[in-house]
Amino acid sequence: MGTAVGQSGVASAAVIGAGFAGLAAAAALQAAGAAVTVLERERRVGGRVWSQTLPGGAIVEMGAEFVTEGYTVLPALVSRLGLELAPMGMSFTRRDPRGGIGVDAAALEAGLAALVAAVEAGAGEGLTVAELLERVPMDAGARELIACRIQVSYAHPVSLLAAGAVRHVGELFDDVEARRVAGGNQQVAERLAAGLRVQLGTAAVRVVQVGDGVRINDDLDVDAVVVSVPAPATDGIAFEPPLPAWKADALARVVYGQAAKLAVPLLAQAQASSVLSVPEHFWTWTAKDGDGAVAPLVTAFAGSGPAVDALRVDEGPSRYLERVAALRPDLELDAAAAVLSTWPDGAYSARQPDRPADLDDRLEAKVERIAFAGEHTERHWYSTMEGALRSGERAARQLLGSA
Ligand SMILES: Cc1cc2nc3c(=O)[nH]c(=O)nc-3n(C[C@H](O)[C@H](O)[C@H](O)COP(=O)(O)OP(=O)(O)OC[C@H]3O[C@@H](n4cnc5c(N)ncnc54)[C@H](O)[C@@H]3O)c2cc1C
Repeated sequence: MGTAVGQSGVASAAVIGAGFAGLAAAAALQAAGAAVTVLERERRVGGRVWSQTLPGGAIVEMGAEFVTEGYTVLPALVSRLGLELAPMGMSFTRRDPRGGIGVDAAALEAGLAALVAAVEAGAGEGLTVAELLERVPMDAGARELIACRIQVSYAHPVSLLAAGAVRHVGELFDDVEARRVAGGNQQVAERLAAGLRVQLGTAAVRVVQVGDGVRINDDLDVDAVVVSVPAPATDGIAFEPPLPAWKADALARVVYGQAAKLAVPLLAQAQASSVLSVPEHFWTWTAKDGDGAVAPLVTAFAGSGPAVDALRVDEGPSRYLERVAALRPDLELDAAAAVLSTWPDGAYSARQPDRPADLDDRLEAKVERIAFAGEHTERHWYSTMEGALRSGERAARQLLGSA
């Protein structure tokens, strides 16, 4: 199947899925000299990164929005692609809490410090976030707010989420200015795809190992393949021979959090803001766009199944709109122009205490000439754009024999 690249024997490769993971894998394989074909089921690239432009010009991120602290691969890629990160004038982490018990800044800080100390002492081992929070002495309002902040961002109930799954606990309420890609996050996917051969509207349904290569959908023969679809989507692909039990079981064990976003154009100018509904587990923001001006748009993000269910998003945006209006009486909403985005198959992966200790190893491991990528396969930065990119680069290294 062509001339082998380096020692790897990978002269040609296919990548299934054109989300950030698949595109990162494809770019890395192509950079190593392989002829790469990307198959994407939808008619656009980006997967859970999906930017839409409203008639007034404001950009709505239907999926991933924030480039948060600690990301390194994504910011470097953004600048390599000639894009920029735009400061948003508001904080992703420090949100103005409304409703609930209430807590002052000193009690919140003390509660957070106690939680950090408990995590560092290993007290969260095997516990859910809710169980750990119950064991750490703190003000009730602090406990409620910390639980809410975690539940919303991890899109999963704190009664199910592993305490060890929460990244950088001490920074949960830092007053750091948020960033996103100026002009829309999806441009990262579009610019990566521009240098690649991508077949849109093409789902991979069959992956067959033949001789020393792989045949996809009966007509694409390659030396190796990267499967970069969300874990449940692997069920839609018939593997021959079937995936080994250790891999199929690992994919079946990935748990997903639930989220829904609502973007509502504004009829009057607003200041940048970040406001959290503590009892309802959703938050809202108004933010600067790439031009430095606050866009006439408020966006809401509800995280966790119970929060999404309470907003009855399967019936449309009306209940969500009503709750956003109640939380943000300071804003003049153009309700008729609201844009709802739901992710019924799951927003991103979540981690529970019953997760087997070897699951990361199994999710990451390749099967013969099939490597696996996707945010759910990333040990640390799972559930993020950063994790998706890292997983794709790692999958490419595995096939090229350098990992
Ligand atoms: C509402 C929401 C908000 C988020 N907010 C943030 C945020 O603020 N910051 C952040 O960093 N992350 C955020 N995320 C998470 C981030 O979007 C994901 O972690 C990341 O985009 C996942 O990339 P991926 O490549 O692993 O998967 P995906 O983007 O899901 O890509 C998989 C691709 O595979 C395709 N596919 C599926 N099956 C097949 C098949 N059989 N054949 C061919 N193609 C197939 C799909 O169509 C899709 O394009 C958010 C996600 C959601 C849903």
